[in-house]
Amino acid sequence: MSAPTSNVLVWVASASYFVAATLFLLGLQRMASPVTARSGIRWAGLGMVIATAATFLLPGLHNLPLIVTALVIGTAAAWVSGRKVAITDMPQMVALYNGMGGGSAAAIGAVELLAFATSTPEAGRQPASVTAIVLAVAGALIGAVSLSGSIIAWAKLDGRMDKRYTFAGQKAFNAVVFLASVVLGAMVVFGIALGGVADDHVVVMYIVGFFVLALALGVLMTLPIGGADMPVVISLYNALTGLAVAFEGYVLGNEALIIAGTMVGAAGTLLTQLMAKAMNRPIRNVLFGSFGGGGQAQEISGSQKPIEAGDVAAMMAYAERVVIVPGYGMAVAQAQHKIWELTQKLLERGVKVKFAIHPVAGRMPGHMNVLLAEAGVPYDLIADMDDINPEFPNTDVSLVIGANDVVNPVAKTDPASPIYGMPILDVANSKNTIVIKRGKGTGFAGIENALFYQDNTRMLYGDGAEVASALVSELKALDGGGH
Ligand code: NDP
Repeated sequence: MSAPTSNVLVWVASASYFVAATLFLLGLQRMASPVTARSGIRWAGLGMVIATAATFLLPGLHNLPLIVTALVIGTAAAWVSGRKVAITDMPQMVALYNGMGGGSAAAIGAVELLAFATSTPEAGRQPASVTAIVLAVAGALIGAVSLSGSIIAWAKLDGRMDKRYTFAGQKAFNAVVFLASVVLGAMVVFGIALGGVADDHVVVMYIVGFFVLALALGVLMTLPIGGADMPVVISLYNALTGLAVAFEGYVLGNEALIIAGTMVGAAGTLLTQLMAKAMNRPIRNVLFGSFGGGGQAQEISGSQKPIEAGDVAAMMAYAERVVIVPGYGMAVAQAQHKIWELTQKLLERGVKVKFAIHPVAGRMPGHMNVLLAEAGVPYDLIADMDDINPEFPNTDVSLVIGANDVVNPVAKTDPASPIYGMPILDVANSKNTIVIKRGKGTGFAGIENALFYQDNTRMLYGDGAEVASALVSELKALDGGGH
């Protein structure tokens, strides 16, 4: 290809990267509201297509058949899994995709470091700058940790692994692995930067050892994290993946990767901070602290007392204030439409109804907001945890549907509990509480809930959608009865 043609192609690629980055930014902005979020995803997706296509214009692209095969396999797998995934399994999918981003960054780091280590001046390759080598190592470390950590997070979220693995001296062991990987990383930097002084094969051995340690670190860091900390961890790995991609983008001199990585890193960091704040958990504690004392959990006395749908409908129909608290079970049951119908019936009767949303209810940030928006619940009926908590003592009936951990008072009372310290919705303070769930199943943290045993709590057993339907029918019957 002639030099002018090649220059034009590089210019077109750079211009396309700029367009793609603008689309990422606008897409991200549109995701701020549920109304525009869908189009935001499409804009960002279009940006990704443009950035991928533009890369083919860059000179010196090798292994085209391999690249095309990888693209076809990746696109087909993502298309099929994206169409099939249940909304309740979305966090697992996010964890996996996020891990793949980190893995890709680590793979770029590996290829570049090996090329830096083994290229000779005769091969015509420019010697790498120290900054590029340091960033390649840093990106590879962060990307590899994010890859293996996200896979463990996926296995835990998908119920394929115990939520929490701990062993004596775990923190010290993790610290040693971390230090060892940093030392090996530094040796890689020196080995390459001093080129010729160190033997190529030795540097390659350093690189291999460095990656093994980095991958082990991701696994080791994630093993002990469980209970209510998982959302913060996934968000943190997401931020780390962004950072790793940006670093490797610098090494490759690829603007699209630098911009997209920085954006993911910044957005992920903000989300992590917001979630950690909402959970009242400094990030340091999430990663290095032990959530819950791990001691003997307190015994809960009393019994769960069942109630029938007819009685619940009457309680709510004659209440002044009702607060509905949705959780993961509402998503499983897809009960949001029936719950909105029930709400409308109550509103028609003059009952004041609000929805209380915990920041980590469900299995992803904003999970409940998305479901309620899909059902058509107006935003002014939806209240955040801090706003609604003072209102529970004046609430006649709290209707908990499929929520468990986020309303569990042991988070405040039992230092041995795995959710100790997590802020909760103070449903326990309301005058009466009705809990809709299928049976005696525990929530994500796998622990008993003291709320279910309170004197003023009644259990309405059954699938969320079926029970909500029954409540609507009972309310209609009450209306028909002339109330
Ligand atoms: P939980 O997972 O604590 O509890 C859900 C409850 O729903 C279960 O006790 C279950 O009881 C019930 N349930 C399940 N299916 C149905 C159904 N079809 N109908 C009615 N009830 C049903 O949910 P919460 O929302 O209270 O808490 C979320 C938890 O998930 C927290 O621990 C949080 O840390 C964690 N998490 C949150 C993430 C996020 O970003 N939001 C991400 C990852 C984890 P039963 O089986 O008896 O029906």
